[in-house]
Amino acid sequence: MAIPGKANGKRTIAVIGGGAVGVATASFLLRDGHDVVLIERGGIGDSASFGNAGVLAPSSVVPMSMPGTLAKVPGYLLDPLGPLSIRWRYLPTLAPWLIRFVKAGTQAGVRHQARALKPLLDDSFSAWLPLVRNATNDALIHREGFLAVYRTEADFQGDALGYQLRRDNDIPYEILRGQDLRDFEPSISPDYTIGVIFRQCGHTVNPNRLVRTVAEALQRDGGRIATAEVRGFVHDGVTLRGIETDQGVIPADAAVVAAGAHSKKLAALLGDDVPLDTERGYHVLIADPETRPQRPILDATAKFVSTPMETGLRMAGTVEFAGLDAPPNWTRADYLMTLGRRLFPGLAPSYPQERVSRWMGFRPSMPDSLPVIGRATACPQVVYAFGHGHVGLASAARTGMTVADLLAARPLAFDIAPFAPTRF
Ligand SMILES: Cc1cc2nc3c(=O)[nH]c(=O)nc-3n(C[C@H](O)[C@H](O)[C@H](O)COP(=O)(O)OP(=O)(O)OC[C@H]3O[C@@H](n4cnc5c(N)ncnc54)[C@H](O)[C@@H]3O)c2cc1C
Repeated sequence: MAIPGKANGKRTIAVIGGGAVGVATASFLLRDGHDVVLIERGGIGDSASFGNAGVLAPSSVVPMSMPGTLAKVPGYLLDPLGPLSIRWRYLPTLAPWLIRFVKAGTQAGVRHQARALKPLLDDSFSAWLPLVRNATNDALIHREGFLAVYRTEADFQGDALGYQLRRDNDIPYEILRGQDLRDFEPSISPDYTIGVIFRQCGHTVNPNRLVRTVAEALQRDGGRIATAEVRGFVHDGVTLRGIETDQGVIPADAAVVAAGAHSKKLAALLGDDVPLDTERGYHVLIADPETRPQRPILDATAKFVSTPMETGLRMAGTVEFAGLDAPPNWTRADYLMTLGRRLFPGLAPSYPQERVSRWMGFRPSMPDSLPVIGRATACPQVVYAFGHGHVGLASAARTGMTVADLLAARPLAFDIAPFAPTRF
């Protein structure tokens, strides 16, 4: 393979990882006039960014670890349709992460995390828009809102703190009950009695195509894409010389680590021991479904999201702790189909294999639900942009803008101290 080299004496910035975060970041860096090389070892947009629920939700400021989460865990684990599973063999490896996760879920902790996430998720639809408009005339992203639905008043009341955090952070929503909810979203079962609509949220009809299309525009506009696996960094302290890959060294003056759930090893090479793990998630997609909601719907009781995609109706969710190497447990995806039928009674009782596809992906998850954005300890010319957990699609564009500001030494639009790699 020809290794792309340094072009015309411009500052060359390597972005490692061709997921939503890497592609958005590379695009904003290119807009700043840098010579940008995006290094991806597999397919662009084929990792976690492939099969997510596609929601661009400023309302997702609520962290995963909340006061009371721990008490719910045994119930989740005992329920085969529950939102959480752990491969017990992985528990010793996961234990330090879990302890941090539990510690993050205090009243003060979640208020801090929600405040920190607010500017990163702010109007995520508009943040993606310039990249999408530059790439295509296709309506790849829509703003139809995001609806959370509950079966019972008790379930809804159980999320009271989450709504308090949204109010504290000026995230508007409206509550719909009974017939108003059914009129608003006729596709769902009448068993769901309460809905909350976040009108400012958007979604993409195909997260993989979104990322690939923006990456194609990056190439069209002069950015380069190298297919290579990054193995290390060539640097002497402050000065970065290049990126070591399985295809040779790619020269670079600065770099961004946006390798999603695989970023931990790369950060360790630069002196940062970050507690990054993965919450594996699944989806099941029904092609040509009998029923289609207008917008993404969070079943807040069962904790999964269904999204009308251009390829069909996708049910995505579940958290599985099993690390990066264990094979998928496809029963987790099959459970999503069962849950989907509860939400949408119009779905058929069974489908031929060719109409259903299943997927598993690795959320890059930090125990405090905050990503890592900041400079590497051993070489400040390397900036981290990973660990976005459940909100990596929504926050990718603002992350990209922030990293571009950081590398240009411009004033930042918001404080990134909560995202510091050294915060633990
Ligand atoms: C079921 C599910 C539903 C979700 N729903 C939503 C949602 O609705 N909204 C939302 O905002 N988020 C959602 N997410 C989360 C979102 O998908 C992730 O946060 C996001 O995709 C992470 O993007 P990324 O670019 O950091 O990582 P990735 O998309 O995983 O990209 C990282 C890339 O780095 C590459 N890479 C890794 N190591 C190397 C190396 N050494 N050399 C070269 N390349 C390397 C990988 O091949 C990969 O392509 C969901 C996730 C799941 C699993």
